[in-house]
Amino acid sequence: MKKILVTGGAGFIGSHLCEKLVKENNKVICLDNLVTGNFANIRHLFQNKNFKFIEHDIIEPFHAEVDQIYNLACPASPPHYQFNPIKTFKTSTIGILNMLELANENGATILQASTSEVYGDPQVHPQNESYWGHVNPIGVRSCYDEGKRGAETLMSDYHRMFDTDIRIIRIFNTYGPHMDINDGRVVSNFIIQAIQGKDITIYGDGSQTRSFCYVSDLIDGMVKMMNNKKKFIGPVNLGNPSERSILDFAQKIIEMTNSKSKITFMPLPQDDPIKRKPDISLAKQKLNWEPKIDFEFGIQKTIEYFRSII
Ligand code: NAD
Ligand code: UDP
Repeated sequence: MKKILVTGGAGFIGSHLCEKLVKENNKVICLDNLVTGNFANIRHLFQNKNFKFIEHDIIEPFHAEVDQIYNLACPASPPHYQFNPIKTFKTSTIGILNMLELANENGATILQASTSEVYGDPQVHPQNESYWGHVNPIGVRSCYDEGKRGAETLMSDYHRMFDTDIRIIRIFNTYGPHMDINDGRVVSNFIIQAIQGKDITIYGDGSQTRSFCYVSDLIDGMVKMMNNKKKFIGPVNLGNPSERSILDFAQKIIEMTNSKSKITFMPLPQDDPIKRKPDISLAKQKLNWEPKIDFEFGIQKTIEYFRSII
């Protein structure tokens, strides 16, 4: 039985991770300041004696006996991470420093939830891990992008200086149940708008692309990365390479929800990446991982989730 810390464990991805780790008979501490997380995502785990929730901000040091740390704490949706950009930057940088110190105190393995945003508005397509990215360091997205890049730097320097046992994953757009109603990302926005018969808000002309990965696939890759015996530290892309335009995605959601919603076009936010698709060759080779969940199935599950909570 491992003792595992999950920061950001009350959030969308973190809550699925806590559930899987508890099911696999580990002792799980879920640390969260609830800025974008939600008790409803983890309430079903409270009766399990191997699950413990602690309200804590990772900007403050934290001490506990742990074997593994999954660092997921950080708002992930553009409106949320831009709401208080200085706090977002501190969460990624001071937060990871605190978690790296905790890893060293315990000799624990630490996995950092990095992001495809480290590639910025990419000039290489699809994105592979050797690409260094194209990030505006002073733009509205940089609190998140540069914070996550800084966290990768700190992870790598702790590994070089102290031999800290690190793992870095770069997560591409992931969706599924437990996304917050007010999250503001495209999957939840479009599904909620379609269910409620409101206009579907496309930013720009909808020609920008994303590649959407269902949450259970991501969690499998994340746990495989943490436990890989080859001590492969990454960074490794985790995402679904099936790429589509945002316009195509909107039309698909309207069709699948049988909605009467119309599409409306709004200004494209600053520095919004024009295309994004992961090259997952490295994950296939090193982790024997690739996504299994089909787009229609995953979206159907997500629609059912939102219908159940709205
Ligand atoms: P989310 O906003 O649902 O979850 C983030 C969680 O972190 C929330 O529960 C929030 O309350 C908590 N948190 C934020 N700041 C904190 C702090 N200072 N101290 C303690 N807790 C804090 O987002 P998510 O989609 O579940 O993302 C989880 C992680 O995965 C994030 O680090 C995000 O950057 C990364 N990621 C997600 C995606 C995606 O598509 N969902 C893509 C790339 C990277
Ligand atoms: N987007 C949109 N309408 C929305 C929300 C998002 O057209 O209501 C677009 C956004 O501009 C971006 C893409 O959808 O091009 C994905 O946005 P999201 O916020 O989900 O994540 P990102 O990949 O940009 O971090």
